[in-house]
Amino acid sequence: MANYYTDIPELKYHLNNPMMERICELKEREYRDKEEFDYAPQDYADAIDSYDKVLEITGEITGEIIAPNAEGVDAEGPHCANGRVEYASGTKQNLDAMVKAGLNGMTMPRRFGGLNFPITPYTMCAEIVAAADAGFGNIWSLQDCIETLYEFGNEDQHSRFIPRVCAGETMSMDLTEPDAGSDLQSVMLKATFDEKENCWRLNGVKRFITNGDADLHLVLARSEAGTKDGRGLSMFIYDKREGGVNVRRIENKLGIHGSPTCELVYKNAKAELCGDRKLGLIKYVMALMNGARLGIAAQSVGLSQAAYNEGLAYARERKQFGKAIIDFPAVYDMLAIMKAKLDAGRALLYQTARYVDIYKALDDIARERKLTPEERKEQKQYAKLADSFTPLAKGMNSEYANQNAYDCIQIHGGSGFMMEYACQRIYRDARITSIYEGTTQLQTVAAIRYVTNGSYLATIRDFEAIPCSAEMEPLKARLVEMANKFEASMAKVKESQNQELLDFVARRLMEMAADIIMAHLLIQDATKAPELFAKSAVVYTHYVEAEIEKHQGYIGRFNTEELSSYRP
Ligand SMILES: Cc1cc2nc3c(=O)[nH]c(=O)nc-3n(C[C@H](O)[C@H](O)[C@H](O)COP(=O)(O)OP(=O)(O)OC[C@H]3O[C@@H](n4cnc5c(N)ncnc54)[C@H](O)[C@@H]3O)c2cc1C
Repeated sequence: MANYYTDIPELKYHLNNPMMERICELKEREYRDKEEFDYAPQDYADAIDSYDKVLEITGEITGEIIAPNAEGVDAEGPHCANGRVEYASGTKQNLDAMVKAGLNGMTMPRRFGGLNFPITPYTMCAEIVAAADAGFGNIWSLQDCIETLYEFGNEDQHSRFIPRVCAGETMSMDLTEPDAGSDLQSVMLKATFDEKENCWRLNGVKRFITNGDADLHLVLARSEAGTKDGRGLSMFIYDKREGGVNVRRIENKLGIHGSPTCELVYKNAKAELCGDRKLGLIKYVMALMNGARLGIAAQSVGLSQAAYNEGLAYARERKQFGKAIIDFPAVYDMLAIMKAKLDAGRALLYQTARYVDIYKALDDIARERKLTPEERKEQKQYAKLADSFTPLAKGMNSEYANQNAYDCIQIHGGSGFMMEYACQRIYRDARITSIYEGTTQLQTVAAIRYVTNGSYLATIRDFEAIPCSAEMEPLKARLVEMANKFEASMAKVKESQNQELLDFVARRLMEMAADIIMAHLLIQDATKAPELFAKSAVVYTHYVEAEIEKHQGYIGRFNTEELSSYRP
């Protein structure tokens, strides 16, 4: 039987990254829980061992239950009757297995029934679940909405809601409306304060809500009558036990069939405010979405892995012209680039997760005591890195998942177009990753300020100073040249002082930065574990070198007057 964790040694490599020691020390507050909980780790080695064991269990459930159910769930899908959602039978089995194994509320403190996991090993679980069934991955991993409730809710809300999620209740994030998609400032769902009942009431419609019949919802709503922008929005907690929200319909969609995408009608639904009024979008939903973007990056890496596995297995088995198709350069080229994108994207994902872990753990400590000046500096440094890396991790991995799924079908030839092969499901499921939680264009909007303010370049220059093995030195030298090209392209666009031109080439600039960052991460990984990453480091450096030259050529030769030729 497959184990989706132990079968992928790259995951264990990332789990053992040296930054984990600091993460564990902060997250475990110097291992103080060991006195109170017998399952709490005693020290760093014990903590890593416990993550490893939980990942192994997740890998086992994934291999033995979730993966075998995926096809049936895809065919059956969820149903909607009387305003409620009924999951596909395989989804129910999957959820049941995850809850029984205690894999809910994983990142929450032990006093609420959680496992106090850092984001990094939790994200690994999300990746491996998505590799088996990306649709189910959504339902299970929406548990990370509880992070936002933990961060911004009060103690009373913590004690009422967090234990329920740790016990297996599900969550949803209700943001999108028919007229408010990428532009969430336009959200109009109305929140009014009911003086008589001393509670808030929600009225309106939400669209495209994943797992919209969840037990607990985080809802973005307009609490300030007469306002039109983000400053009039607040975040609310809606508890299904209170009633007032019905599912009008489930969308009929291209992929992730197991994941119910719902239209919700709020009729005087009782809700409670989470955090302060007016900070709903500006602060809380931004935090919620950053967490969810990391989740979609993990889902994308899982899908990339699944696409690679399917492509590789087929290429080894299929024979044409008297030999296995994997022996044709045109085929092994596709596979090598798929693997390189997978390894590079995963390196970026877990680097981002580690940055998030450090700043979030320090944020949490700051709720208990004042941080020292060194800790404050560390918190700021990692928060900035996490903010700048998150749109890259989401943007690049979701595009790579789509590219890998496309190549997986190509390797299968005509069989890839047939419904009996898993690659068609992977292809359909991957398509959404570059759309929800902010399209790739919106990830570019989030990332471009780190291009123009020089943050990415500074990170790249820091990476250049990290020693690497002699084998990797020539690759690193090529990366220095690529960074120079990125710097020159950026300077050219900045010099023009033309905002439209900057917006026009923003995605190319973002990709240049991301390509170089990922190649550096791969070189660092190949230095420590050449048996796992050396080939991908070579292939990826070669691949991105051509990409960087293409983008530099495009930007360098671009004449601003030509912009008018592009306008419809
Ligand atoms: C299956 C599925 C599940 C979903 N789950 C959830 C959920 O759980 N909760 C939730 O709240 N929402 C959810 N969504 C909604 C999802 O987040 C939005 O669909 C997405 O953010 C895009 O919004 P939109 O569909 O309105 O597209 P639009 O915003 O109308 O975008 C259309 C196009 O215009 C581009 N565009 C828009 N603005 C800009 C800009 N400023 N710069 C450059 N390009 C721009 C976009 O990139 C895109 O190409 C889900 C959607 C789907 C399909």
